Amino acid sequence: MKWPNVTGFFSYQKTNIHAITVLLAAGFILAGCRDTNLTLPDTAASTVVSAGDETAPVSFWVATDTHYLDKDLQDGGDAFQAYVNGGDGKILPYSDELMEALVYDAKQKKPGFLILSGDLTNNGESSSHKKLAEKLKRVEEAGTDVYVIPGNHDLNNPWARSFKADKQIVAEHITPEDFTGLYADFGYNEALSRDKDSLSYLVSAAPGLYLLMIDSSQYANNESYGFPQTDGRILPSTLSWMDDCAKLAAEQHASIITVMHHNLLSHTSMSVSGFKLNNSQETMKTLRKNNLNLVLSGHIHMQDIASDPKSGNSGTSGTGESAVYDIATSAFAVNPHQYGAMTFDPTTRAITYHSTSVDVEGWSKANGITDPNLLNFKAYAESVFAGQSYNKAIARLAESTFSESEKQSMAEVMAKLNVNYFAGTAPGALDEIKAMPGYKLWMNMDGGFMSGYIQSMAADKEFSNVSLEMILTGP
Ligand code: FE
Ligand code: MN
Repeated sequence: MKWPNVTGFFSYQKTNIHAITVLLAAGFILAGCRDTNLTLPDTAASTVVSAGDETAPVSFWVATDTHYLDKDLQDGGDAFQAYVNGGDGKILPYSDELMEALVYDAKQKKPGFLILSGDLTNNGESSSHKKLAEKLKRVEEAGTDVYVIPGNHDLNNPWARSFKADKQIVAEHITPEDFTGLYADFGYNEALSRDKDSLSYLVSAAPGLYLLMIDSSQYANNESYGFPQTDGRILPSTLSWMDDCAKLAAEQHASIITVMHHNLLSHTSMSVSGFKLNNSQETMKTLRKNNLNLVLSGHIHMQDIASDPKSGNSGTSGTGESAVYDIATSAFAVNPHQYGAMTFDPTTRAITYHSTSVDVEGWSKANGITDPNLLNFKAYAESVFAGQSYNKAIARLAESTFSESEKQSMAEVMAKLNVNYFAGTAPGALDEIKAMPGYKLWMNMDGGFMSGYIQSMAADKEFSNVSLEMILTGP
């Protein structure tokens, strides 16, 4: 069977591998964002949690695009290997180990709650959802509440597959009704309010803090399309329900963090559709009207902090409008396999965010794992991701007139660039990348196409994509 070898990152029907390669090739633009040069200790979680104290800061995590694939759906055979190699960098062979490491990390550091902002599963397989829900139950049993929303891959997905030897086999997928049942304990049962037209809900996550969990995905027509619709929007009725939620929060003097799978703001200057909400301007109006200034999103799979206006903090923009932030956390399934470790201080409404790689090594050691890839996971995962970028660059340059050694040095630049771009650390790696032999070759290609992106990245060098400190405005 013919199977699209592109998923997740761009799952548009019309997208092909070349689009991916172009983005990977050109993928080093930074959207405007704000740096705080924040240095949070990795153990922030354990130092700020204080159960029962209504005024103590709370720590919490946001992970997104976990794209969990049930181990029983793949046998490591040819079909699975081809699927992984043709994909977008998700480390699917270690999907289960990665989620176990997240459970372990949560048990060790005990954040108050954990947010998963969609694309929970690879392609909405029923058994992936079920096994993920079992793992999330263990997180809650260890004292960390879990709140989830679906992403564009999670519901009514005709691409749900298992992999056996050299074959892909259609696997059972789940419906929206199944979703609220499976994840009842992870938001839907605790909701203060549920939107009648989507899987959105409002929940009280900590003293003085509500989460507005928005379902921005469009899955009603997936089965007739034969593919999962990638782009997102917030329904007009959901936007007015958000107004009601803000009123409710105001009555309770609670601040709100809005969570959605799709991005509120642009995180790349590439003209790629399907990442930002289709009605992002309308959504922005609703957020501004209700004084909501922080969105947590995912979907684009790369780490980026953007704000509107771009210059960041209120008062400094000169436009009179205070900044609304959209933190796109990179895909947990993709190197460097990170989540956002956050804190909220109810007395000052101060928010901190710091991206943190999951401790696969620690989990492996604690569980007597002998697989060297897991014991040295950081290095292993980076080399796999870099290798994929390298191979894609070589493939892209196949028809070019460059010599083999020139192609190799260009591919090395691309690998380095992608590793840093997806991690949100490209600005710091820029000098090193510019010094690589293949850099000039890229610069001279495509009529300066690449150099423009490098320059836009350099211009934003003072802004961090991995750390943020801001104050939540109240509704
Ligand atoms: Fe995704
Ligand atoms: Mn997505």
